[in-house]
Amino acid sequence: MGRIIGIDLGTTNSLAAVWQDGESCPIPNSLGEYLTPSVVSIDEEGTVYVGKIAKERLISHPEQTASVFKRFMGTGKTYLLGGKTYRPEELSALVLRKLKEDAERYLGEPVEEAVISVPAYFNDMARKATKDAGALAGLHVERIINEPSAAALACRGWRNSGWQQENDETLLVFDFGGGTLDVSLVDCFENVIEIAAVSGDNHLGGSDFDQIIAEQFCKEHQLEFGKLDRKRREIILAGAARAKCALTKEEHTVMSAADRDFWETMELSNRKLVQISMPLFHKMTAPVKSVLNDAQRKMLEISKVVLVGGSCKMPTVQQYLRRFLPDSQMTAMNPDYMVALGVGVYAGIKERNEEIKDMLLTDICPFTLGTGLHNEMDAARPIMAAIIDRNSVLPCSKVQKFQTAADFQNTVRVDVYQGEEYYVTDNVYLGEVNVPVPMSLKGQEKITVRYTYDINGILIVDVKVDSTGEETQQIIMTGRDTIAPEEIDAYVKALEKLKMPPAEQEENQMLFAWGERLYAQSTGQLREEISRKLQYLQYLINKEQNPYRMKKWKKGLREFFESADRYLDMTELSWEQESGDSWYQERTEEEQDAEEDYVRWYDGHLTS
Ligand code: ADP
Ligand code: MG
Repeated sequence: MGRIIGIDLGTTNSLAAVWQDGESCPIPNSLGEYLTPSVVSIDEEGTVYVGKIAKERLISHPEQTASVFKRFMGTGKTYLLGGKTYRPEELSALVLRKLKEDAERYLGEPVEEAVISVPAYFNDMARKATKDAGALAGLHVERIINEPSAAALACRGWRNSGWQQENDETLLVFDFGGGTLDVSLVDCFENVIEIAAVSGDNHLGGSDFDQIIAEQFCKEHQLEFGKLDRKRREIILAGAARAKCALTKEEHTVMSAADRDFWETMELSNRKLVQISMPLFHKMTAPVKSVLNDAQRKMLEISKVVLVGGSCKMPTVQQYLRRFLPDSQMTAMNPDYMVALGVGVYAGIKERNEEIKDMLLTDICPFTLGTGLHNEMDAARPIMAAIIDRNSVLPCSKVQKFQTAADFQNTVRVDVYQGEEYYVTDNVYLGEVNVPVPMSLKGQEKITVRYTYDINGILIVDVKVDSTGEETQQIIMTGRDTIAPEEIDAYVKALEKLKMPPAEQEENQMLFAWGERLYAQSTGQLREEISRKLQYLQYLINKEQNPYRMKKWKKGLREFFESADRYLDMTELSWEQESGDSWYQERTEEEQDAEEDYVRWYDGHLTS
């Protein structure tokens, strides 16, 4: 069997990693370097160049060379290189093929499978395109993981023995690459890694600094950047990027740009860089504020700021971040490798254990999935009823009940839409399920609709007619292309499990049995509290799809039961006479959060 490698397929640079001797290791390319520029050049003869050589050809043969194509994955955009057109997934496939070949040379073994990371905001089509690129490169890609999750994995560290850190933490992943800034809030709890919120700036990256330095260079030499020919612009930009990187090690440097009849220099320092690029620094704060707002978190709740991406190596960037992320511990270990190393960890786990039962990496659904509701005011414009909300943690399975909208209606149509608009006609239609219902008066017949959805873009719609118990199932692909039928079968099987995860079920049963016994043994306040907690557990099992919150709350419940057991063992005092303090243990802040959700539920429960 061939090896499985992890790949960070970056916009600017790509890197593969593999699990070796108990850790994730970056794989050097044929030049002995770790980063392979994500640049492809194809000449008239059809010779393909990938990586550093192609990056050089960006200057010498711009019409045969493409870069930054990751941005357009899954869109219709094409590139014309050496007289032929290529889709972004074909160009990505060439990069992947190079990484595969380099890995095979390095490992001395065939590589058949890869886990590839993508930005958290990538939609289904872009994810599907990434898988297609893998297939074109001869790689089986079963799993796509989010870049911030990968960074969190690398940061938390994984050894053969299992998770190093058992503690609960919230990471702020600040991924500042060549063309984009992606900021994510990642919650880690035991073996669960969950993205709580993502934000970013699609037009802010290292190349913006290159551009500003290049423009400053032109200004000092009475040139107008925009009026130079493409080749000269590329030469100046390359000089600017080199100078910028030199400033990582030194405070001062001299930028130079030379062509046949042209040779100019400019002095550059970190101080000067800050002066000329202040607007870029200011733009870095907005996404940080936005993730904190979206997730309703405070800066204080962040346990670690993880710096990822080449641009985070800039001392000026690190200093600027320290000004507004003061209390957090900043981790700037290997920003270039962080994502790849994390994907390598995942590949390692996958190699040893097909089921990956040791770990739960969650994704979020970037859009809402729902169905159309009859609109009394305007029958032609049904209203969107959300079943799976945007930003729900995936995979997930959610249920809602609906009723007939007209007298003597004999079928119900559940149409499936994707999008955020109020009227379904403004959203994307994905398909429909029609089910017969017994004829009766409006509102008499009820149906239960379940949507089960995963990151692979497979949506299972189950419709059950409550009165007859009849069930209808339909599988809907939310991506653009269809997936091979054998593959669908496997996904559907995996999703079926999700509707009733067995391990989870066993744990729930254990908690119920434990709680019921305690209930029987106790009296008064303690007994009431146990009853409420069991009800809430039932509520969570029915409604809560967020594995992270579920796990966190259940951990608290176990501790509660343990202390109740201790209390019941220890004392003959009756619960009524004793204040709660005698057995109650102080909770950590994180446990309090999970508890807060419970209190909120309980308050709502009382009033309804
Ligand atoms: P991506 O995720 O977009 O593929 P990377 O994380 O590889 O990108 O980051 C690439 C960017 O990092 C480029 O703009 C590059 O100029 C910048 N970069 C790399 N090394 C350094 C350095 N030492 N100092 C400053 N910028 C750097
Ligand atoms: Mg990157």
